[in-house]
Amino acid sequence: MIKKIVIATKNKGKIREMQDAFTELPVELLSLGDLEKDIPEAVEDGDTFKENSLKKAMHYQKYTGVACLADDSGLEVDVLGGAPGVYSARFAGEKANDADNNAKLQAELQKHGVNSSPAAYQCALTFVDVNDTVLQSQGFCRGEIRKEAKGNGGFGYDPYFYIGSKSMAEMTLEEKDAVSHRGEALRKMAVLLKEYLQ
Ligand code: IMP
Repeated sequence: MIKKIVIATKNKGKIREMQDAFTELPVELLSLGDLEKDIPEAVEDGDTFKENSLKKAMHYQKYTGVACLADDSGLEVDVLGGAPGVYSARFAGEKANDADNNAKLQAELQKHGVNSSPAAYQCALTFVDVNDTVLQSQGFCRGEIRKEAKGNGGFGYDPYFYIGSKSMAEMTLEEKDAVSHRGEALRKMAVLLKEYLQ
């Protein structure tokens, strides 16, 4: 039987990366935009990515009546003591877009007198079924935040996040998936879901 799962995000970059990971599974993925329901936004006030992904998955499962998979992810920059962390999407303010957040990131590096810093992307995924079954996975990706932007792919902080000489925005979807925090968390989730749906 095909299982319907709603992905708790409107972020097209994340949806693209997630759909790819589950092609082998008996699931039909829907995005929040596919549902003709007015759903209030989940409150993301947890201290960790794992906690926030659980809050989101429980919230949207309840409002949609469909099993839900939620992602919470972000960037941790060493020289900034792990910031922006769980505040990555709103680093430059509640209504900030990627350009605002990247400008804020550059301003913070400058304030600290550096052109680059070791950094990591983190991703937590939570699946909540209609019977309240919870599955969780996490992924992690180390790299470096630099001053110069390169590439047009990816989203968010990707043009400034480098692994070796290549920014994440220069990678194809497949290349990013092989090394990224979301790729790792999705591969672990695919194993858990396969076992659960058998
Ligand atoms: P969330 O929607 O609360 O999980 O916010 C995640 C935020 O972290 C995004 O808006 C991006 O700014 C950043 N982020 C998470 N994953 C990535 C990624 O793969 N590339 C670039 N930025 C990311």
